[in-house]
Amino acid sequence: MIVCDEPTSALDVSVQAQILNLLKRLQDDLGLSYLFITHNLGVVEYLAHDVAVMYLGRIVERGPVEAVLHAPSHPYTQALLSAVPSLDPASRRAVIRLPGDIPSPANPPIGCHFHPRCPQAVPACRERYPAATPIGQGHEARCHLLS
Ligand code: SF4
Repeated sequence: MIVCDEPTSALDVSVQAQILNLLKRLQDDLGLSYLFITHNLGVVEYLAHDVAVMYLGRIVERGPVEAVLHAPSHPYTQALLSAVPSLDPASRRAVIRLPGDIPSPANPPIGCHFHPRCPQAVPACRERYPAATPIGQGHEARCHLLS
């Protein structure tokens, strides 16, 4: 398994494409596994089979790429995906703006760490960290609204 930590983020777009195509070819030809760390959701869709979305150092949603990117269940994943520009007017989503700043991971908020910025927070979010709720076919998310 190869760990790739933001391997293309500092590259020119055309070089990025060459590197991603090389990684994909090696993945297909040699059966390589990558642990790919990125903020680029286009890269995730192109290269990954499974994805884990993290907030303040914890996984809040995980599952097959198709399920997580096309039917996100966690409010943070929904906000991330709403910010991805689309050339197709039919698939554009309303941008979800998150208030406030990202808290310190060294002193995370009690309860769900996302609650100070979550547009869907309910009282339980300030009290308990949510358990992982299975959504189906290996897709799960940590949100009180799902349990
Ligand atoms: S548990 Fe509450 S604060 Fe956390 S993502 Fe779900 S609704 Fe938002």
